[in-house]
Amino acid sequence: MAQTPRYRFAPSPTGYFHVGGARTALYNWILALQNNGVFVLRIEDTDDSRNNPQWTKGILEALAWLGIDSSDSHFEGPIFQSANAALHVAAAEKLFAQGVAYYCDLSTEDIQKRAKDSGKQGYDGHSRDRGLGPGKGRVLRFRVPPGSTIVQDEVRGSVEFDNSTIEDFVLLRGNGSPVFLLANVVDDITQGITHVVRAEEHLPNAPKQQMIWQALGHQPPSWAHVPVLVNEQRKKLSKRRDKVAVEQYREEGILAAAMKNYLMTLGWAPTGDTEIVPFEKITADFKLGSVNHSPAFFDIVKLQSFNADYIRAMPVGEFIRACEPWLTREKAPWQAHDYDAKVFAEIAPLVQTRVQLLQDVPSMVDFLFCDLPIIDADAFTKAFAPEWASLTLIEIREGFTTCEFTPDALKAVVEAVGEKHSLKLGKLQAPLRVAVTGRSVGPPLFEPIALLGRDATLRRIDIALAKKV
Ligand code: GLU
Repeated sequence: MAQTPRYRFAPSPTGYFHVGGARTALYNWILALQNNGVFVLRIEDTDDSRNNPQWTKGILEALAWLGIDSSDSHFEGPIFQSANAALHVAAAEKLFAQGVAYYCDLSTEDIQKRAKDSGKQGYDGHSRDRGLGPGKGRVLRFRVPPGSTIVQDEVRGSVEFDNSTIEDFVLLRGNGSPVFLLANVVDDITQGITHVVRAEEHLPNAPKQQMIWQALGHQPPSWAHVPVLVNEQRKKLSKRRDKVAVEQYREEGILAAAMKNYLMTLGWAPTGDTEIVPFEKITADFKLGSVNHSPAFFDIVKLQSFNADYIRAMPVGEFIRACEPWLTREKAPWQAHDYDAKVFAEIAPLVQTRVQLLQDVPSMVDFLFCDLPIIDADAFTKAFAPEWASLTLIEIREGFTTCEFTPDALKAVVEAVGEKHSLKLGKLQAPLRVAVTGRSVGPPLFEPIALLGRDATLRRIDIALAKKV
């Protein structure tokens, strides 16, 4: 029987969950689904100085948000690397017993001095044949054989490394703790991993890790190193410089479906003439072999435009539910008791076609739930600058006192004033919009005014006119 393919995603919980990590997780998840395999989630939590349970929680929540579902039969874990420390040390001892690894007592200063004296960079293998045993402050190093190491990579093809450029690398630190390279391989072996799909930055580790796999008597996995994500200056996305946290995009109101779809278009494209496709199609189409070698530009503007498309495509009821967290939280600019879900439901279709991020929804509807609109001072000054502005608004106000308070009737009043003064509707309604909503842009005006009601509308116009005079 063919072996079940086992993929894994092995994040280190040392910060917010990076969009690059999310893409790697999606690749592994999709491959596990496609091949009826397993997706192992392994939390590589062995760096005590940088780990924090908060980050692990963030990873688990973000994966669940992306639909990488821990209750799915393809999902295994989370497994915590720190629980396997004894296995890592045992593997190191085995390599020492085999003679594949040796102890070394040189300090960093000793190594630097030797490198300076010899003019050759790095560690020179000084302790290879000194027969040292374990001891305090001694590191265990892997004895890199001569020749070359070929890493067969599903994205990059066959990558050859000259072993003479790889120094005898450390497996156990001077305090006996295993390093990442070793722990990562031992866990992959123990967890039966057959495919390692991860970020390109780990490619230089692959030859070393392949040597460890082989020295421990195992067939190395199938490797795939996926290209990095870069910003608009073509610099690798960095936590310090760029907005990389999945949590942050989620908080802004990027939909999970849009984020998934967008991430999957970075360095790969679904078949057909549109990039906006359901996840089922992506799952069916995706091929590691067609992933591009070059870095992929993480374009926030494009992500937002994907999001707007996804928002527009939602049934309105779903859109309303999706907006709820942004409308009912404390941060909303109105008093909780002034929010009226029924009023929002009325205006939701107009908002849905105009919004890119769910976090922008409150500012498009706040005038309906705040006692008075939050006036944008610049917009106000601009709208009331023309000499006709106040005059026409007084006439509109006049019409609004008696007309039926429906969108059509309100519009007819404004149009009649426009005709009288030979002003187009778009121009004429600018002072009215600022007076009632506080802003110069927003959803079509007459539906919200009808929702707001006559008294509130007239009061706002009066305040604006008084402010103006
Ligand atoms: N823990 C490593 C990281 O977060 C991943 C190592 C791997 O995928 O092999 O970069």
